Amino acid sequence: MFHIGIDVGGTGIKVGVIDDSLNIISEKSIPTCTSIPFPEQVERIAGCVLSAAEGAGLTRDRIASVGVGIPGIANLATGEIIKCTNMGWFHVPFREEFRKHLDVPLFIDDAANVAALAERVAGVSAGTASSVFITIGTGIGSGIIVNGKIWNGFHGIGGEIGHVILDLDGVPCSCGNHGCLERYCSATALIRMAREAVAENQNTLIMKMVSNDITKIEARTVIDAAKENDPVASEVYSRYIDCLAQAVGSIVNLIDPEVIVIGGGVSKAGSFLLDPIRREFRKYVLYSDQPLPEIKLAVLGSEAGIIGAAMLS
Ligand SMILES: [Zn+2]
Repeated sequence: MFHIGIDVGGTGIKVGVIDDSLNIISEKSIPTCTSIPFPEQVERIAGCVLSAAEGAGLTRDRIASVGVGIPGIANLATGEIIKCTNMGWFHVPFREEFRKHLDVPLFIDDAANVAALAERVAGVSAGTASSVFITIGTGIGSGIIVNGKIWNGFHGIGGEIGHVILDLDGVPCSCGNHGCLERYCSATALIRMAREAVAENQNTLIMKMVSNDITKIEARTVIDAAKENDPVASEVYSRYIDCLAQAVGSIVNLIDPEVIVIGGGVSKAGSFLLDPIRREFRKYVLYSDQPLPEIKLAVLGSEAGIIGAAMLS
């Protein structure tokens, strides 16, 4: 039997068929289209699933389950998607609609939870019972695994580390509060901190790298300039690392998993990101003289969305 994973993204929807060894044996994708009615969107997605199954030479009766990773929240019991802003889905009966096209068990979960599960079954946290996954991109996504299963809370709204508040009087967040962790730990935050620093002091490699156009500053710009020991970039980067260390320390204080996995665009900085976090997070841990979680980089990359979704159950 085979499992199929669907990774619903803002620009594209990817579908993959997974075999028992967790290999993607067939993959299809379609551009995201939010301008058509919901039933037609689901029909397109189901069509893509059937075409991926056909690509793997599968008949419908060999599909054990389909899983969907969405940037949003769902009612796992009813298969209703409660909120998925990027897709314009609010209280839509996804499972019911999908089963009109393919009647198999269908599971839905948040994209970061799905990526956490993927790393747990086929990636860097494989074999561990507990792990926390953080993805550092435009925002901060997170997924918690307890006893090998996704823990997204009793009401399905937990595991949102990005909106833990670090500073009551801090930077306004898209959620309406101030000082959320996401405002200090995301790629967007690193860019904001760099722009603020550059406004104070233009004599920095960052400005040379963007030809004096601060709108062109990316997370990578700051990281590359910090690697060159540029003083302004290094100062910004060390403040940013300190924020991430606080995030990791808070995760340890609250959950104390076996492993904390860091993924997303910023994690491409590799050991330049990981080494200072490993050094700094201890000072925010209450029982820092005890054995502490390992901090590791995610290994699955863009395939995590498909593999994790296919493994939902
Ligand atoms: Zn927030």
